[in-house]
Amino acid sequence: MADTATAPRDRAHRASKRYIFAWGDGHAEGHGEMKDLLGGKGAGLAEMTNAGLPVPAGFTITTAACNDYFEAGERLPDGLWDDVLEAMHEVEERSGKGFGDPRNPLLVSVRSGAKFSMPGMMDTVLNLGLNDETLHGLIALTGNERFGWDAYRRFIQMFGRIVLGIDGAAFDEALDAAKRARGAEQDTDLDAAALGDVVDTFKAIVQRETGRAFPTDPYEQLDLAIKAVFASWFGKRAHDYREYNKIPHDLGTAVNVVTMVFGNMGDDSGTGVAFTRDPNTGEKALYGEYLTNAQGEDVVAGIRTPQKIAQLARDLPQAYGEFQGIAERLERHYRDVQDLEFTIERGRLYMLQTRSAKRTAAAAVRIAVDMVEQGIITKEEALQRIEPAHVDQLLRDQFDPKARAAATRIAKGLNASPGAAVGRAVFSADTAVEWAGRGERVILVRIETSPDDFHGMAVAQGILTARGGATSHAAVVARQIGKPCVAGVHELQVNYATGSAAANGLTFSQGDPISLDGSTGEVFVGALPTVSARFEDQPDLQRILGWADEIRRLQVWTNADKPEEAAQARRYGAQGIGLCRTEHMFREGERLDIVRGAILVAFAATRAKTGQVAGGSLDADERSAIATFDEAMGKLEALQQGDFEGIFRAMDGLPVVIRLIDPPLHEFLPNREELIEEVTRLRTLGTPEDDPEYASARRLLAAADALHEQNPMLGLRGCRLGLMIPDFVKVQTRAILNAQIAVKRAGGDPHAEIMIPLVGHVNELKETRRLLEAEAKAVESAAQAEGPISVDYKFGTMIEIPRACWVADEIAEHAEFFSFGTNDLTQMTFGYSRDDAEGGFLLKYVEDKILPANPFQTLDPVIISEMEMTVSKGRAARPDLKVGICGEHGGDPASIAACHRLGLNYVSCSPFRVPVARLAAAQAALAGGERDT
Ligand code: ADP
Ligand code: MG
Ligand code: MG
Repeated sequence: MADTATAPRDRAHRASKRYIFAWGDGHAEGHGEMKDLLGGKGAGLAEMTNAGLPVPAGFTITTAACNDYFEAGERLPDGLWDDVLEAMHEVEERSGKGFGDPRNPLLVSVRSGAKFSMPGMMDTVLNLGLNDETLHGLIALTGNERFGWDAYRRFIQMFGRIVLGIDGAAFDEALDAAKRARGAEQDTDLDAAALGDVVDTFKAIVQRETGRAFPTDPYEQLDLAIKAVFASWFGKRAHDYREYNKIPHDLGTAVNVVTMVFGNMGDDSGTGVAFTRDPNTGEKALYGEYLTNAQGEDVVAGIRTPQKIAQLARDLPQAYGEFQGIAERLERHYRDVQDLEFTIERGRLYMLQTRSAKRTAAAAVRIAVDMVEQGIITKEEALQRIEPAHVDQLLRDQFDPKARAAATRIAKGLNASPGAAVGRAVFSADTAVEWAGRGERVILVRIETSPDDFHGMAVAQGILTARGGATSHAAVVARQIGKPCVAGVHELQVNYATGSAAANGLTFSQGDPISLDGSTGEVFVGALPTVSARFEDQPDLQRILGWADEIRRLQVWTNADKPEEAAQARRYGAQGIGLCRTEHMFREGERLDIVRGAILVAFAATRAKTGQVAGGSLDADERSAIATFDEAMGKLEALQQGDFEGIFRAMDGLPVVIRLIDPPLHEFLPNREELIEEVTRLRTLGTPEDDPEYASARRLLAAADALHEQNPMLGLRGCRLGLMIPDFVKVQTRAILNAQIAVKRAGGDPHAEIMIPLVGHVNELKETRRLLEAEAKAVESAAQAEGPISVDYKFGTMIEIPRACWVADEIAEHAEFFSFGTNDLTQMTFGYSRDDAEGGFLLKYVEDKILPANPFQTLDPVIISEMEMTVSKGRAARPDLKVGICGEHGGDPASIAACHRLGLNYVSCSPFRVPVARLAAAQAALAGGERDT
């Protein structure tokens, strides 16, 4: 918001700092932009007061007081208590009541309020200031005995639970017992006498649980409540929440002390919460609930079923009209959907809270589009309001909203990996594998997961854990393998012995169907129906992304190996293929056998061909090796050419970067240990040497032995493979260029770019290029024999070995484009083997904060520096060098922002991430070009 707010008026204080900001009588000392100091709630109350809205008088004790309190070893800073007393006197004057005055008692609420609204912080204590004396004042003043006793029992209950730390169940049970004894259905059915008895019971509970009488001095109550709010900042749940949401731990919480207004004074009173628009769908209509004759917490506590807010228009039309006007004003003022709390005391409306509303992904998109149309915000602001995670969510399957609304929720935990999952609960990875094997859909439920559970996670529809945060094993692995995951459901009691789990009074056992929403962290009873999310059916999302396209500078390409993937990515808005991995084409069906056949003789055939070129003569074995090899490679060439034609057609007019074969060859062979077992088994059975099965197993094993390497990831792979066995380069070049020629002749517009992996030394690239160009010339002249055609392609390399970054200028002389392979670059810069690290110590590193984040998820600052050096050296040598990224980081919003700042031309990510990347690229452009390291 614009900084039009005036500087806060100073206030006399005894403490060394000014810790208190008060409001009342239409004026506040703070304002809406002071969230750092006043917390969200305090800033909102100040802002509403300044806007002339009806807010009960009160004051905020700042977040600085909280931090200084902990700094001083949990002691209130000197002078602060005097300042609190002073502020209380002011509230007394403004309300005309006295704190602890038995004739005309002032009651207050004590409310926590950090900068960001945070579940897990201290709950609000209402009616503070009540004791046996002030109670009678309250009754006399209101003439409502029942109301007085109800307020008192609520106070003891809340204060006992929240401030004194007594288990709330003790109070709940006592209240239920009182209701049962009197045949009362609802709290409101208890009369004054009954509530008086409840108060006595509650006092006895406090005495029993704390060993002291309930504190009757209002100032002691206040002191204890303030300290309890401070203490809640470091409560476990609040701490975990900050960890997950990356909120710093040193912000502290503010404390708000607010004059009580009473929604429980009869049928002309009530309390409610409302959103200025529907937070589920985004529809522009007041959305919320209220209860007559109730106090704040009743609406959410679910003790009585609240009314829809529309009912208020009939019950209390005047208050409703006023509230509607205020809602409209607040939304315009904050230029965002607001989440409001209000109370009506004998027909008079009071505002108790306003904040930007949390919303579903669907609502976020619709609201942003509507608000642009209604002239409330600009397109740029709309883009900044949508989170990349929202886009991601909208493209995943979701639960049918109606079924979801009617479903029974078991519990809520962390939304660790998005998407909807339905399946039968199983409690071990082995069971998951067994059940999945017979076609069951399962949800793996664990207290927490470890690398030993991976096989179960891989076959499960979703993963549910009771412990662990967003960087726990379950969460990280689930995101990696794209499974929905709800983690850290603290209230879930998992019992492996009985094969069951329970939370909030609901139990499910092995085999029971449950539903997980990884986007919201919710777990439901039963199998909820899902609806698949089609991009084509989401016009609002498409509009927003259209605006993103107007703003972003980075292009968004995709990593796709198949024509269908390419077509899908194109529908999502991909502007090219940044990585087409040819080896994926080697693995399917019949191809694997052809590839294996070629690999078995690859080296022998290559040696023979070299000998032949040098003028030597070939023996029979050599001739046969060459024949076998060439035949297999010829088949592969034809198959690959077909694949490439499909991809070129799907990406007509757009660039397609094809990478030559990259993985070590042993990946195409069966596992070596299994081969050893097989050969040993056949030998022990006395199988004759010429048995075809035995012979083939021996041949494969011999090849696996020959190819065996200690560190395959650092061994014979990437461009090294093409240099050792040049036919790989030649065959793939022919397949690519002949595909291009075929598509061109059919009237298409294919754009081939050939990319060499794993270059570390410029000579590797030069030599590969020489091979490739010779082949390209041959292809061209052969094609021209059939009619005029030109063969044009771009030649470039991946940058994924740290050495290549240092010699990027040399490399750029021979490459028209670079594409950062940040998976390998990270792995080689850190010296981690990704497969070993992510399944093992890396998670622990992140948990223990040895590393701030998983560098395979978000680009590490040092990798960004390497990229920066590469870009500047590369472009110094070749000013029009095109640079992109095709590692998985290309779909990560924070990494996309870094790519924008580095001046890359494009990011390339998996098809499903393309819409997310379009938004993230626009947000990066809006954030400006500055670097933050
Ligand atoms: P939360 O952070 O959980 O929203 P709040 O501090 O907003 O907690 O308060 C919890 C409930 O108590 C809300 O319904 C709120 O409207 C109500 N409440 C808080 N302060 C007062 C007050 N001074 N008078 C009446 N109701 C209050
Ligand atoms: Mg709260
Ligand atoms: Mg609230």
